[in-house]
Amino acid sequence: MSDSKFDTLRIHAGYDPESHQYASSVPIYQTAAFGLGNTNTAEQIAAGEKKGFSYSRVGNPTVRVLEERIAALDGGVDAVAVGSGMAAISYVILNVAEGGGRIIAPTNIYGASLDEFRTLMPKFNIKFDLYDDVNDFEQIENLLKADTKAIYVESVANPSTEIADIEKLAEIAHQNEIPLIVDNTFPTPFLFRPFEYGADLVVYSSTKGINGHGNVISGMIVDHGRFDWTNGKFPQFTENEFILGNEQKGISASFSSKYDNRAFIVRARMKYLRLFGSVLGPFDAYLVLNGLETISERLTKEVSTASRIAEYLKTNKFVKKVYYSGTDSNNELVEKYFPKGIGSILAFEFEGTEGQVFKLLNSVKVFTYLPNVGDVRSLIVNPGRITHREIPGEIKEKHNLNNQVIRLSIGLEDVEDLINDLDQAIRIAAKK
Ligand SMILES: *Cc1c(COP(=O)(O)O)cnc(C)c1O
Repeated sequence: MSDSKFDTLRIHAGYDPESHQYASSVPIYQTAAFGLGNTNTAEQIAAGEKKGFSYSRVGNPTVRVLEERIAALDGGVDAVAVGSGMAAISYVILNVAEGGGRIIAPTNIYGASLDEFRTLMPKFNIKFDLYDDVNDFEQIENLLKADTKAIYVESVANPSTEIADIEKLAEIAHQNEIPLIVDNTFPTPFLFRPFEYGADLVVYSSTKGINGHGNVISGMIVDHGRFDWTNGKFPQFTENEFILGNEQKGISASFSSKYDNRAFIVRARMKYLRLFGSVLGPFDAYLVLNGLETISERLTKEVSTASRIAEYLKTNKFVKKVYYSGTDSNNELVEKYFPKGIGSILAFEFEGTEGQVFKLLNSVKVFTYLPNVGDVRSLIVNPGRITHREIPGEIKEKHNLNNQVIRLSIGLEDVEDLINDLDQAIRIAAKK
C-alpha cells in the first residue's frame, strides 16, 4: 500500500479491513475509553510498549485511520488530528518554540493565525517577527536571530492566492538549523505536497478542502520526520521526560531518544493533544475520511471552474482586479509547484463603493454568503469585514485588502450557473 499512488492512498491508506470485521467503510468507534484486557496488557499499553487504545483523548481507531491516511498522502512520517485548524497551528507553534523564542512569519496569513501570532503567542513568550512579502528572502535573512525557532508560511495565501517559494524558504530555514512550517490548507495534499520541497511540518484546517463538505471543524499536524530536533535549539526534545522513563526500573528517556524521527509528532500528541486536549471526535474524523475519498475529483473540477470564473471576471468592466495566481501568465512559482492548479479560492476587487459591494453580496442566489472555504457549495464573502477583520488596517493596505475585495470559494455547481449568478449580482450592484 505504501508505494501506491495518491488516488489509491486517499481511499485505502491507514485502514486494514481485516481488523474491523471487513467493514468497507471505516467504522466509527464512538467510545470514550477502551478496555485494557488484563493487568499485563494494561501495563504494556500504559508504558507505550504495546500498541493499543485506552482513552479517546489520546487516540481512537477511527481518528487514527485519518491520521495515517493524511500522513501517507503528504509523505510524512506521522500525523496527529486535532479539533480545529487553529488547534493544529497553536500546537505546532508551541511544540516548536515552547519556553520562549522567535518565529518569522509573513503578514499575508489567515486572520486568526495573524491575530494569534500578534496578540496571544507573545504572552507565552513566543515573539513573531512579521514581514510583508512572503518571498522577500533578504528580509527573512535580516530577521533571523539566535533564538529564531522556525519560519512559518502559507503555501497559497488567503485571499490573494500568492504562492510561497517553499523550496527556497526551506533552504534558508535549514541553513539556520530551524524548521519550515507550512499551512497547506488551500491547496490540500492533492494539489501540493510541501515535504517534496523540503518543508518540515505541515498544518491543515481539514475543515476546508480536505473534508470538502463544510460539515466539520477539524485540523491536522503532519511531520516530515527529517528535521534534527537534537541540534541544541530545541531542548524540549532532548531533556529527560518523566512519562517516557520508568521510575521503578531507573530508566530515563527523552522524546528524541525514545522516538527518534517521530519525536516531534509523538510529543505533539503526548504534550499538547493529551494535556491541552483539543480532540477530534470519531464521528467528525469519519466525516473527514468520507470527504477525503473524493478529493481528487472535487478539486479537479473546482480548479477548472475557478479558472473559468477568473477569466470571466477579468472581462467584466465592474471588476478592477482579479486575484487568482492560477491563471497568471508566466508565474514561475505556479508552473513549478502547481501543475494541477492552485485551488478553488479566488478573489476580485469590485469597482465601486462598499455600499455596492453589500448589494452584490445580498443579490447572489447560487453562491452562499458565509465565512468558509473549500465546500462543495460555492461561497462568497467580503473578507475585509468578516474573515480578515482581525487584521489591522495598515497590514490590510499593504496587501491591497480593501473593503471592495470579494472572496469566492468555488464548489461543484454548474459553471454557467455560477457565472450567471455573479453576472446578475454584479449588474444589480453596478446600477446606481
Ligand atoms: C480556516 C483556516 C484556518 C483555521 O482553521 P479552523 O479549522 O477554522 O480552526 C487556518 N488556516 C487557514 C489557511 C484557513 O483557511
